[in-house]
Amino acid sequence: MDFPTELISYLHAATRVAVLTGAGVSQESGLRTFRDAQEGLWAQYRPEDLATPEAFDRNPRLVWEFYAMRRLKAGEVLPNAGHIALAEIENRFPAFTLITQNVDGLHQRAGSQSVIELHGNITRARCSKCDFFLEKWADSGDDVPPCPHCGGLLRPDVVWFGETLPAQALSAAIEAARHCQAFFSIGTSGLVQPAASLAFAAKERGAVIVEINAEPTPLTPSADFFFQGSSGKILPQLSRALN
Ligand SMILES: [Zn+2]
Repeated sequence: MDFPTELISYLHAATRVAVLTGAGVSQESGLRTFRDAQEGLWAQYRPEDLATPEAFDRNPRLVWEFYAMRRLKAGEVLPNAGHIALAEIENRFPAFTLITQNVDGLHQRAGSQSVIELHGNITRARCSKCDFFLEKWADSGDDVPPCPHCGGLLRPDVVWFGETLPAQALSAAIEAARHCQAFFSIGTSGLVQPAASLAFAAKERGAVIVEINAEPTPLTPSADFFFQGSSGKILPQLSRALN
């Protein structure tokens, strides 16, 4: 792909970059989205039975097992060329913030350092009572493991339907969007708020908006540059073009 020279020289001069990624980036690793993950045994459940606070209250074990399956699947796939290119591109800019809606931890596994997780991370758990966070816990067979701090039930550290985004992550994301010189929106439908508004917050403050997506989105008419296709192909080319 040929990138416009105006974009490449703008990026060469830029120091502050923010990137928003969504499910499209992980799908290229072969990872299923939430709805696609509801296959087999899980197909009989509605999202409200698996990914809401009410579902967890009703049947914590069912919800815990669904996320245990997704955690296992996420562990089986590898970061793809798009993830790896983003980790490379990060090193080019003094201030680089990667904001992701993905919960699979693949950006970190690819080497990205500055990552804001808007929807949490399935590889972590937290206590449903006292909000104690854990990266590792002992799986106790059939039961949902207890919090080592208060004995409450552990839950996946993700944002469920009907829950608000973690306040600190959201404000850091808005801050990064408002202060960047270039904002990339990659593999995201641009439909889910408040993530979708980040590009507009960046544009309002004068940032150049670059979109990389398989299909045009509601953001596309407002983007300064739109590259249609696979982020796993386009991002490595961009990384090389910046060299
Ligand atoms: Zn606890």
